[in-house]
Amino acid sequence: MAYIIHLDEGKCGGCGACPAVCSNFEMMENGKARVKNKEVKEIGCNQEAADACPRKAITIRKVR
Ligand code: SF4
Repeated sequence: MAYIIHLDEGKCGGCGACPAVCSNFEMMENGKARVKNKEVKEIGCNQEAADACPRKAITIRKVR
């Protein structure tokens, strides 16, 4: 099983909530967040980051 983590930069408001709950996210110099590993074997904290996002910018899709 694998999961694709997608972050819609256009929706990101730069609040910093996702990197606060999950180390797979980081803030870029432009104030937006980015996903470090876009394909992961375990959802782990990525789900918490998606749940924490006030703009619903983070989506998780199951592949394989
Ligand atoms: S939680 Fe959502 S709005 Fe906040 S920095 Fe992360 S992607 Fe952007």
